[in-house]
Amino acid sequence: MKESKRRENPTSAQGVACPKCEHVNDAGKHTCRRCGSHLYVSCNACGAHNARVRSHCHDCGQRLHRGLWRKIENRLSRKSKGKVKLIHLVLLVASILLAYKIIVMLAEFQPAPVE
Ligand SMILES: [Zn+2]
Ligand SMILES: [Zn+2]
Repeated sequence: MKESKRRENPTSAQGVACPKCEHVNDAGKHTCRRCGSHLYVSCNACGAHNARVRSHCHDCGQRLHRGLWRKIENRLSRKSKGKVKLIHLVLLVASILLAYKIIVMLAEFQPAPVE
């Protein structure tokens, strides 16, 4: 686990670290030898080739993964569409139960009738 602390400079002369499985691949490879994911991404601003483990373009400093994150978000929101209704239903039932409990509590805590 100490190895993961040395990720400050993942792209060295020895090779390119995989963004997914952290396997260090030989320099010049375009895909990870272990999991097959792409190791490089081209900059949206200047088109420079960057290792995917980098967060910013080495050439112009542009953030590299904004598009990737948007893609992931889109995929997640598309996947959870069916679940959203279920969550709403659960929340609705929970709020009804909560309201019911509050009503019961209020009924119990009514001040004693004054003689
Ligand atoms: Zn990999
Ligand atoms: Zn760039």
